[in-house]
Amino acid sequence: MSAAYPFSAIVGLADLRLALVLNAVSPAVGGVLVRGEKGTAKSTMVRALAGQLPEVAVVPGCRFSCDPASPDGQCPDGPHDPAIAGTARAARLVELPVGASEDRLAGSLDIERALTEGVKAYEPGLLAAAHRGVLYVDEVNLLHDHLVDLLLDAAAMGTSHVEREGVSVRHAARFLLVGTMNPEEGELRPQLLDRFGLTVEVAASREPRERAEVVRRRLAYEADPGAFAARWAHEDADLAERILRARTLLADVLLPDAELERIARVCASFEVDGMRADLVTARTSIALAAWHGRTEVTAEDVRQAALLALPHRRRRNPFDAPGLDEEHLDEALRDPDEPEPEPEPEPEPEGDGPDGGGSPPPDVDGSDGSGNAARAPERTEAAPTSAPGTEDAPVEGAPTASGGGPEQAAVAAAEPYRTRLFAVPGVGQGAAGRRSRARTASGRTTGSQVAAGRVTRLHVAATVRAAALHQKARGRTGAGLLLRRADLREAVREGREGNLVLFVVDASGSMAARKRMRAVKGAVLSLLLDAYQRRDKVGLVTFRGADASLVLPPTSSVEIGAARLAALPTGGRTPVGAGLLRAHETLRVERLRDPLRRPLVVVVTDGRATGGRDALGESRRAARLLAATGAASLVVDCESGPVRLGLAARLAGDLGGPVVTLDELAADGLAGLVRDVRSVA
Ligand SMILES: [Zn+2]
Repeated sequence: MSAAYPFSAIVGLADLRLALVLNAVSPAVGGVLVRGEKGTAKSTMVRALAGQLPEVAVVPGCRFSCDPASPDGQCPDGPHDPAIAGTARAARLVELPVGASEDRLAGSLDIERALTEGVKAYEPGLLAAAHRGVLYVDEVNLLHDHLVDLLLDAAAMGTSHVEREGVSVRHAARFLLVGTMNPEEGELRPQLLDRFGLTVEVAASREPRERAEVVRRRLAYEADPGAFAARWAHEDADLAERILRARTLLADVLLPDAELERIARVCASFEVDGMRADLVTARTSIALAAWHGRTEVTAEDVRQAALLALPHRRRRNPFDAPGLDEEHLDEALRDPDEPEPEPEPEPEPEGDGPDGGGSPPPDVDGSDGSGNAARAPERTEAAPTSAPGTEDAPVEGAPTASGGGPEQAAVAAAEPYRTRLFAVPGVGQGAAGRRSRARTASGRTTGSQVAAGRVTRLHVAATVRAAALHQKARGRTGAGLLLRRADLREAVREGREGNLVLFVVDASGSMAARKRMRAVKGAVLSLLLDAYQRRDKVGLVTFRGADASLVLPPTSSVEIGAARLAALPTGGRTPVGAGLLRAHETLRVERLRDPLRRPLVVVVTDGRATGGRDALGESRRAARLLAATGAASLVVDCESGPVRLGLAARLAGDLGGPVVTLDELAADGLAGLVRDVRSVA
């Protein structure tokens, strides 16, 4: 194995570096989620962290990394002799591949041996390997649902519990969770998001010199990894030593009441859920103080901690932009009892006064009562410069809503609402989700089959039935059932899959009445939100004017769908046929890429095809072509006004799917009602 890339050699990424270091100093911080585009060295940096973690003392021979000072009472390799001498080993960084099996993560219990030989054979998984170390998930947003559930359970309990047919194993599993993700490929479930102590956004540097340095070091590393690592060994060793020093200091760090109250104020102000945000911010502030060699938390520590700990906790809606509004933060950080700070804060003296940070600079003492009054005008003067262009002068080049013509500026969407569930008919085999019926690894047991390969989900009744037939022939005399490999039956389970919801949205002039477009966008946004919650992939085709375009290729990132929808201009003719053909082509490509994912085409239109000699005929032919591929569909009829042509319903007929009006989309009193798309037709 070639030498790992040294932690210290990574250029830039200061926030990520700090977040990782703070976790190494204090594992109680609770891990890091790293968000950013591909190719930012975020994974390289996370992997390099392994070399910076302090060593751990373990019980020799224990596969579950028991601490000799306090061995796990339930350790499957225990009980351990309390007098045993521990050995030190490097802390582990264990990688969890997104497509790993449940057994790989939680460990596997050999039911065959348990049932046929009476032996409890347990092979530890990645959760055991990561105990007292780091569990790293690259592309954590693509992690399968059942693995996420296992992770959440382990993280909540600090233990991993495997149970199969009454045979169970439990062992300690406490680890730092570090995940990297590209948000364009989809978001995380809120429960999982909350499990990460800190989040960091990373982006490649736009600074040419820095970019050049990244490439220079990468090339040097690739040319000779050993020599490169050796060149940085000293820096890495210094860093590891500083981390160790900070860890020792941690227990002595004081969190003054004033700073604790500051934390509470900030968390309340950002309307975070529960108390976890306060705890993580407090722990991070303490780790920061220790990292800087101090024994007291300062206001600046709190500010920095909040920037790392809060961005992912204040999100209310998956469509909200990530990050933290720093102006809002500074407002919340300010102690209401303290005098307002000078407009120009002084640079902080390094390690000077022990209580620097949030307290006022020493030179305010002269005019206490009058000082506030005297400063007031300064503040009002400063305000406009800090928030430029909020009230005055529209931004140049911004689209104006008044423009008539064939093309209109984008109309904002109406508020999203809860929609009814529309499912694809039949039983699929797609990735786990919450829309259509599917054969899945977890879920309700619906039957049994002869076990193929290793048995993980024994169907007990079916197995006993199978074995019962042979008891006499096998010479059974006593009470115990004589089981053979061939008797074993596996449960067949049914759960739900996610689908590809492809929106085909009419953005033509006939739809462009402002009020209606607002409602249409609101409807699509609601369906998008629903798709997000059901873990669907989404795509967006729009048609207007002369053509149709694939505005959003199939992706798991619903945020991008919402953004594209918001920016969608309207106007022009209505090439319904072109829209459906584009959908047809999109599905063809997607079938190659993700064959098990079944599509649901949602056509949002009034059906009034125009543009071309036989626009209506074209649209009907395209609809039948799409229907012939077996794709399930739904038409949302946007027709309004006194004269109704019912063209959308005819289109739905050609597509072989149901039609609903905009009003019928909402869940309303029918909340949660499962509607089979075909059955409505
Ligand atoms: Zn042990």
